[in-house]
Amino acid sequence: MRNMALVLDKRIFHALNNYLCEEKKFLFGVLKVKSCNATLSVPFSKAECKYDGYWDDTYGISEMCAISFQTIFDKGVSLLKMIENAGEDGWTDEIDDHTKSALIRLNEYIENKDRHVKSLLTVLNMDDASETDISVVFGEHLLGLLAPSKTYRVDGRSKGKQCCRCGCDAFPAFNNTGIGHEEVWHGYIDLVLPSYPSYEDMQSIAKIVVQMDEEKQSKKRKLDFDGEEKKTSREKSIVTVKQVLPEKEYEQALAQTIVFSLLQKKEHPALKHHMIPNIVISPKEVEVLLYDAENDILLCGNRFRLFVEKNSERVTLFDYSIVFLWMVLNYKIFCSFSKTETLKRYKSNFPIFAAGKWEVYENNLKSNVAHFNAVENSPNVQFFLQTSVKLLK
Ligand SMILES: [Zn+2]
Repeated sequence: MRNMALVLDKRIFHALNNYLCEEKKFLFGVLKVKSCNATLSVPFSKAECKYDGYWDDTYGISEMCAISFQTIFDKGVSLLKMIENAGEDGWTDEIDDHTKSALIRLNEYIENKDRHVKSLLTVLNMDDASETDISVVFGEHLLGLLAPSKTYRVDGRSKGKQCCRCGCDAFPAFNNTGIGHEEVWHGYIDLVLPSYPSYEDMQSIAKIVVQMDEEKQSKKRKLDFDGEEKKTSREKSIVTVKQVLPEKEYEQALAQTIVFSLLQKKEHPALKHHMIPNIVISPKEVEVLLYDAENDILLCGNRFRLFVEKNSERVTLFDYSIVFLWMVLNYKIFCSFSKTETLKRYKSNFPIFAAGKWEVYENNLKSNVAHFNAVENSPNVQFFLQTSVKLLK
């Protein structure tokens, strides 16, 4: 039987060519850990992970080392370009089922975008929307629809469990989303995007950040991929990428990203690559962190707005937000990571900082945990003085 010709909505190609593949617009900075508390028993909410970017001053200007969206997701980008080139008649090349269903999911989402946006905005614009409500609406009307299994799971410990508040009445699956190990970093993931049942190794996670309003945050993190001085030395095409996220939330997200990737590597050692994403999403913006547990590479994407805004009112989703998230959620298919060789020189050094407990990170991490037992971080001297002492002479 002849393959059905595949034709995709033109908005997908427009988003790809005019935004996602534009030089220096969608970047992933290469990070290294400077210090962290990964050897202690701490929940993600108390995880500390100080970091810095890798910098290069080859041209006499300090520039942060970064890798572009199209380099990381090279396979996905070239596939979409081939489909675009096939034109109106459609694309008829042989394609595996997972890739095909991923393409259909994206196309369906774009075609029904207005409906999904209406649901998202109904909840995001509510004054009393809780973190749980926001997690559910992002799961139900955005991330879940683009993910391989078309499902999502919300942290079962969330407060105020109820159905999606957009009015669709969907009741989400609340599950145990704990990952990590009580002896080291551990905690619960807001949103888990499972894989196909037959394709278990393509899960993703998302962290929901409710307050990410730039004006409201007093403590801000600013990270310029392009420094001010560089603007004067080159053409004006240079884009300054700034990120603003409360430091604590950011360190927490980094810890989750590292633990989740190490866990995936342990549970699915045969994966072609171990560059695993964590989507940090708020009602306004999104940013993706990636950790390659095999090569120890930690990347942070620049933050970008999810919605087209008019007079600070959200109007609709940017098409590039949709294509970007879809590519990330289907990372196993679309990220072939052919540039790893270059990146191998830019290690995050996390294993060095976790050295005392590296064995736990490598072999003992757990998933779907409902409860983590408390672990003493340091020996309780008072306890030993009362119970067992050896007198020195
Ligand atoms: Zn809904």
